[in-house]
Amino acid sequence: MEKKLYILGTGTANVSKYVNTSCVLDNGKELFLTDGTGGTDILHCFDKMYLDWHRLHHAFLSHEHTDHFLGMVWVIRMIAEYLELDDYEGDFFLYGHSEVLDKIKAVCRMILKKRSQEYLDRRIFFVPIFDHEERKILDYTFTFFDIESTKARQFGYHLQWEDGTRFAFAGDEPLSPNGEKYCDQVDWLLQEAFCLYDEEPLYHAYQYSHQTVKEAAEIAERNHVKNLILWHTEDGTFGQRRELYTKEAGKYFHGNIWVPDDGDLIEL
Ligand SMILES: [Zn+2]
Repeated sequence: MEKKLYILGTGTANVSKYVNTSCVLDNGKELFLTDGTGGTDILHCFDKMYLDWHRLHHAFLSHEHTDHFLGMVWVIRMIAEYLELDDYEGDFFLYGHSEVLDKIKAVCRMILKKRSQEYLDRRIFFVPIFDHEERKILDYTFTFFDIESTKARQFGYHLQWEDGTRFAFAGDEPLSPNGEKYCDQVDWLLQEAFCLYDEEPLYHAYQYSHQTVKEAAEIAERNHVKNLILWHTEDGTFGQRRELYTKEAGKYFHGNIWVPDDGDLIEL
């Protein structure tokens, strides 16, 4: 069955012209959400892209930073709302490393209404995942890995589906050797590209442990990746981003380059 990747948002934390990074994998039956955007944007995105909350039972939270974390609180609130209305079949599972799960659970316990909280750990489950751990989710084999961030602990994942197609989500920092081994010859690699190489002094990508389009493309090239999706970018190139990023990535990478806009749909 054909898989689709809904790109909800593509911007870094500090943007105002894009939604923060988040995507949904759709296998035709169920959805798998990666990160939550920075807030209520997630609700607008689901609405705009006709994504059905009732098909969402699995989500992954990479790390605790605002632009990934806060929207996930809204996701949990939304699922709890449907549960309260007796309008949600099955359970909801949020995967993440133990620290990020402790934090989101604490926030939910502090700010969600009491009736929503009743579903935490009863119908809404927080599932800790570990470095190199394999799990069957949506019938596919997911392998989670620690990207070895020096800022806040962060995980990515590798996923393989029935026809052998392989997809990797590398988080929002440069790939560490621990993560890079899962990206070797993948069909799809979702990687951050904070800004163009020449504009690094303007955006301080390296200072904040990020990488430019050039480094993202070089990693994809040396791993013989087929399709490179670039996201988690600045918004100063708004309107020209696809053209500029594709041009720069093409100097270092010979596979297919995707620079999606918010709301784009990629057929995998
Ligand atoms: Zn981020």
